[in-house]
Amino acid sequence: MAQCRPMTDHHAIKPGFTPPPDHVVIDEAAVLRLSELPSGALDALVARYGLSLEWVAPGVVIPGSFWGDDEAGIIGETLYVRPDTAVHSALHEFAHIVCMDEARRAAAHTDAGSDDVEEEAVCYLQILMADQLKGFGRERALADMQAWGYTFRVGTPGDWFARDADRAIDWLLREGLLRQSGRTIDLTFRPRGPA
Ligand SMILES: [Zn+2]
Repeated sequence: MAQCRPMTDHHAIKPGFTPPPDHVVIDEAAVLRLSELPSGALDALVARYGLSLEWVAPGVVIPGSFWGDDEAGIIGETLYVRPDTAVHSALHEFAHIVCMDEARRAAAHTDAGSDDVEEEAVCYLQILMADQLKGFGRERALADMQAWGYTFRVGTPGDWFARDADRAIDWLLREGLLRQSGRTIDLTFRPRGPA
């Protein structure tokens, strides 16, 4: 099972999730921030899904942020971010909005309320979405997730993405969030429908 919430020593640990092992080094300074992306990159991705993005001014509390600080927030179908929000955090919370069924999305506030398989699907989706952001991409996404302390049963985010994500892929295909043609898997750019 994935332990794919970002966890740092000053954040509360979500019930049901365990802290990263001692050997995982968390390096918050190493990860790319939204202000370092080309302007409009995240806005374009969110718009392509027909969902909403709200930018919060520097220093202002981010509405709907489960982890607080600079981490992205969720209220309904709107993603809240600040320029200093980590790109992986924005993509993770955005992928949560995409993976919620319509009823849950309409009522969503702060806590995504995902079960384990949906949490894995969110992690998989955020890595594929990274390729849609100029200046980011899946390799940087995986490196940043590792630096932030995302841990998986099989090891690093890269190990999980390459070898152990079948359950997430099946779920995403079934819910219409990915499509497969031959050996290629692509985003559908549609949020999940009714449950
Ligand atoms: Zn999550």
